[in-house]
Amino acid sequence: MTMTDPVQAPTKARLLDGPALWPAQAHVPTVIGRQLIIERGEGSYVFTSDGRRLFDGTAGLWHANIGHSHPELARAAYEQMMRLETHHIFARFTNDKAHALGERLAGLAPFERAKVILNSGGSDAIDVACKLARRHWQREGRSSKKVILSREFAYHGLHAYGTSIAGLEFNREGYGTDSLVPETARVSFNDAGQVARVVDEIGAENIAAIVTEPIQGTGGVNPPVPGYLEAIQRICRENDILLILDEVITGFGRTGKMFAAERYGIQPDLLTFAKGITSGYAPLGGVLVSPRIWEPFYVDSPATPIFRHGATYAGHATASAVALAHLEILERDQLIPRVGDLERVLHRELAGLDAGHSGVIEVRSAGLLGGVTLADHLSAEAIADDLIELGFISRPLRGNTLQISPPFIISDDELVSYVQAIGHAINERERR
Ligand code: PMP
Repeated sequence: MTMTDPVQAPTKARLLDGPALWPAQAHVPTVIGRQLIIERGEGSYVFTSDGRRLFDGTAGLWHANIGHSHPELARAAYEQMMRLETHHIFARFTNDKAHALGERLAGLAPFERAKVILNSGGSDAIDVACKLARRHWQREGRSSKKVILSREFAYHGLHAYGTSIAGLEFNREGYGTDSLVPETARVSFNDAGQVARVVDEIGAENIAAIVTEPIQGTGGVNPPVPGYLEAIQRICRENDILLILDEVITGFGRTGKMFAAERYGIQPDLLTFAKGITSGYAPLGGVLVSPRIWEPFYVDSPATPIFRHGATYAGHATASAVALAHLEILERDQLIPRVGDLERVLHRELAGLDAGHSGVIEVRSAGLLGGVTLADHLSAEAIADDLIELGFISRPLRGNTLQISPPFIISDDELVSYVQAIGHAINERERR
């Protein structure tokens, strides 16, 4: 991913031809002609059209938690499609798989009596959570409470709300962003005192919600500084501000707990999820909603309001069947406790990497999420390219940082080899 927009190309430059598919999040001239076409996956490895076997050290975009091409999930999708591909869940209709998934998720939620909204991914989930937060206050008769606060370096997807609340400025620029979704503001990613001051300045009577990832992902793998999330929760409670926890990366085991909310002892009002609910085998995301938010919409009265939101694929039956089968496998194969073991290996190996390489500025990790920040004379983008040549996938993130987020099914040895490969790539660059 290129982190800043390059300078405008001179107008005389040659126009590139390329494949019809516009590459996502890419500086097109940098990637055309050197795209890696992945055509097969098996467990923690993917295979390219030019014959490479690559260790998927990022689990794709933090999603392939149980690894690639799992036959049980292929079967779950096939069987569901043979019975009913999907049926929408608008008004009186629902379908049995979405219905069952709702029950299952309510049972896993980190708070009591959760309701579940389903859609197709993380960006969708963020749009829904932010809309619902504003709707909540409007319905309460406090319609001035509209501002959505998010943290610097935050990533919440790239739909309208996600773009407007992005803490990575390059994702906000170029859309007339302050009018895309008006009334948003950024707060410090690590200084809760600053957050309290911003709340005072804007006024709690104008603020709907604070949105935060428990551990920032795309912003560089930043676990919360001790006390930060707890302080944010306190600020929300004391000021009647809703807390939206974005667990699109951390949900379903990535931190060694079902949700990071449990790891950090946080009770959000709304919790967004996606990726790890199906390990990416079907596009699915959603929101866990706490009673405070949903109860007014469930009152037995003609005057009860409607939350006017929904989409054709909300509660998609095949995606839901895949999610149910996936959650069974997570539990049966004890993959979340396994993340706890791997966390210790990752922590130890990263400490070794840090101690052994002057080119490493800082390492950070929590659960099976790691970030390696490199000195200026090394480029995370270049090292990620070198790692491909060595047979390993990593990814450059903000702040010259390499991403580590392999599938949960790897062995200790595979994790050790991966971190060693990063060390090797750094050594080779420094030698040159
Ligand atoms: N929130 C977070 C924390 C994410 O990391 C992402 C995706 N990386 C999203 C939201 C958006 O999810 P999606 O790409 O599925 O729309």
